[in-house]
Amino acid sequence: MRDTYAAVMGVSTRNWAGNQRCIPAEVHVPKSTEDVATVVREAAEAGERVKVIGGAHSFTDIAMTDGHLLSLDAMNRVLAVGGPDGLDVTVQAGIRLFDLNEELAQRGLAMPNLGDIDKQSIAGAIGTATHGTGARLGNIATTIVAMEIVTGDGSIVRTDEQNDPDLLQVARVGLGALGIVTEVTIRCVPSFNLHAVEAVEVLADVMADFERVMHDTDHVEFFWMPGARRCQLKRNTRTDRPAEPQSKVSYIRDKWIGENLAFGAVCRVGRRFPKAAPKIAKLVTSAASERELIDRSDRIFASPRHVHFVEMEYGIPLDAVPEAIERVGSLVSSLPFPPLFPIEVRASAADDIPLSTAHGRASGWIAVHQYIDTPYESYFQGVENIMNDYAGRPHWGKLHFQTASTLAGRYPEWDRFQATRARLDPTGTFANAYTDRVLGPVTHPSS
Ligand SMILES: Cc1cc2nc3c(=O)[nH]c(=O)nc-3n(C[C@H](O)[C@H](O)[C@H](O)COP(=O)(O)OP(=O)(O)OC[C@H]3O[C@@H](n4cnc5c(N)ncnc54)[C@H](O)[C@@H]3O)c2cc1C
Repeated sequence: MRDTYAAVMGVSTRNWAGNQRCIPAEVHVPKSTEDVATVVREAAEAGERVKVIGGAHSFTDIAMTDGHLLSLDAMNRVLAVGGPDGLDVTVQAGIRLFDLNEELAQRGLAMPNLGDIDKQSIAGAIGTATHGTGARLGNIATTIVAMEIVTGDGSIVRTDEQNDPDLLQVARVGLGALGIVTEVTIRCVPSFNLHAVEAVEVLADVMADFERVMHDTDHVEFFWMPGARRCQLKRNTRTDRPAEPQSKVSYIRDKWIGENLAFGAVCRVGRRFPKAAPKIAKLVTSAASERELIDRSDRIFASPRHVHFVEMEYGIPLDAVPEAIERVGSLVSSLPFPPLFPIEVRASAADDIPLSTAHGRASGWIAVHQYIDTPYESYFQGVENIMNDYAGRPHWGKLHFQTASTLAGRYPEWDRFQATRARLDPTGTFANAYTDRVLGPVTHPSS
């Protein structure tokens, strides 16, 4: 019944991968910051919990609740463009990245870097430290220069580089545990094109020169199917050259048929006949396309994803990646059920946000995926064991098995985050099962 009500209101109660769902006590679609504040105030007075769901693209239960579930889908407007160079754009926090990218493009602006999809809300993306690739670039949260937040008692606080900058620094990656973000100001860049070159290369060559490869181009990532000799490298370089986009026909061939329809069919066969999976995996790599094009940055960064999967991603020190990849390769050969998806490797710069997965260190990202409804537990657990040896930090929105006690030591500013949480949400209004696991209860500095 409540599920039906949520559907009528257009609010997701399950995530994109379909591996998380919840039955909220009540759903709300506020239209303003004041509406949000009222819901939170009343819930807090009644001792009830509150959670926002953004684009529902996290693989963990981070956005799930049995309390009040809010969708900020109706709070999706661009509010102002300003700042010293006209690069600071203030938006309501429910705006999805695909809408944001269009709004920015119309104003001659762009996000400096993005991940590989654009379905997330801006607040959901920053809240889990969502990142793209680029060894000299930070994650999306590092672009935030001001925020408006509804705190645990329904108060509205604003923070920017002059006004409570300490709060701004911490709250950019808040895991939804500090408050409801209602507005953010993003420091954008003038819009730019990317020259995309996709090629198939020998993994050993890439590994032998890994750090140079990751630094040589603005945005580099590669996909490797364990067991295969070669990997698919994607290099995106900023360019002043005009767009030379793919024709509609070749876009449909590469992105819809190759990366989705055909790949989905291959995965279904692999799930049904796991013994054939390693051969199928090699087929996938050999079928990887080589292509070259120039297009608007956001159109190059994001791709359609219609084959559903679950994912785990770890950030480790950049220089540890080649050894870790080799170990993941060895692990895969001993698994009872082989992975049907390639491993994805990316890089990003260090930042100063306490619970950012790239806090204080240049990071290499190793992401492992498995086709939906296919065994993944021993694969992901094995990969996590390897990542533990490098003090790996799991992506907050992707599957992992860590707890507050295993994570605290991996974040030098863990206590600073917890002190901010105690200040903004002293009674745990924004807690849920996920924050209970990965952050523990709200702890007050004196306790
Ligand atoms: C196909 C796919 C591709 C992906 N690609 C990438 C990638 O390239 N790089 C990467 O780093 N990650 C990637 N992700 C992970 C994804 O970016 C994160 O999980 C992100 O948090 C999802 O954003 P969302 O809007 O869907 O948030 P949700 O999953 O709905 O929520 C995430 C968290 O944000 C909180 N939240 C949402 N809105 C607010 C608000 N207004 N105020 C306070 N808290 C809020 C929620 O309560 C929850 O705690 C991918 C996921 C999928 C499914």
